[in-house]
Amino acid sequence: MSARILDGRALSKEIRASLFDRSLRLKNDGRAPGLAVILVGNDPASEVYVRNKSKACDECGVMSKVFHFPNTVSEHELVGLIEELNVSNEIDGILVQLPLPEHVNVRNIIGCISVNKDVDGFHLYNIGGLVAGGTIFPPCTPYGVQLLLETANIEVSGKNVVIVGASNIVGKPMALMLLQKDATVSVCHIKTNDLSLYTKLADVLIVAAGKPGLITADMVKNDVVVIDVGINRMIDGSITGDVDFDNVKHKASWITPVPGGVGPMTVTMLIENTIRSAELRMAINPININPAVTPAEMRLSI
Ligand code: NAD
Repeated sequence: MSARILDGRALSKEIRASLFDRSLRLKNDGRAPGLAVILVGNDPASEVYVRNKSKACDECGVMSKVFHFPNTVSEHELVGLIEELNVSNEIDGILVQLPLPEHVNVRNIIGCISVNKDVDGFHLYNIGGLVAGGTIFPPCTPYGVQLLLETANIEVSGKNVVIVGASNIVGKPMALMLLQKDATVSVCHIKTNDLSLYTKLADVLIVAAGKPGLITADMVKNDVVVIDVGINRMIDGSITGDVDFDNVKHKASWITPVPGGVGPMTVTMLIENTIRSAELRMAINPININPAVTPAEMRLSI
């Protein structure tokens, strides 16, 4: 048996075509959606991610602006820029590429982004909304995983979903999103004793640990659905996930490849959030495209 492939690249292509149409409609009604990306330093991986995001914006008809600062930038300067972008009539989404240098407090920076433009979904309001309802922008990676599952008609209600990795940007929001869909969710992390005890229970296994080869075939049951979020750059320059794809695929019913699985979906959901932000702003104030709309006015449940 070999698993069916959850092809994030193909699904992204379809979604991006419809995103382009939505952008065009907005452009015809006033202006194209706009995304501001803030990049600090010269981390090669961050530079690649930012380039990919800009390329995806071009593909979807979204105007993007990259603000590139040296590593020595102060928190004060970054906050100043974010405050300007919060009230800019051209910008619907603000993204700060992580990681930031150690002297910059990430929470302060993310906290300054207007909730209405937090298209990465990292602001406390959007994270809190995953518990209490009211999220405007779901975090992009879990949102992309959810869409991959839904598009393949993979039901999570009542299923054992095991998530390996408990970060604020992937594992935790993923757990909350699938809990809302009535999955029984377990979250494992570096301190979990006997990881395979949990992974063997999974009907759906989502792995976001950043450890190549962490999940082997003996750790999963037959017919498991495997979502590999991991992106690991190997010494030979290749990219691999956290799952031993070649062996696990013989036991799984569905599996994501790396690359070509979750990665393209993350970027696509960023563009979707940005366009939706512009649409909401337009719908609320089509004449002025008011940047200062309150969260209550923009609320959308996922
Ligand atoms: P992180 O380092 O913030 O968190 C990693 C998590 O995995 C932690 O909770 C840690 O406890 C857990 N973990 C680490 N080793 C483990 C082990 N041996 N057993 C069990 N748990 C373990 O990482 P992150 O930002 O969540 O990213 C995780 C991976 O996903 C990375 O490879 C990253 O590049 C990738 N990623 C991919 C996308 C995408 O779009 N595909 C998006 C974000 C992150």
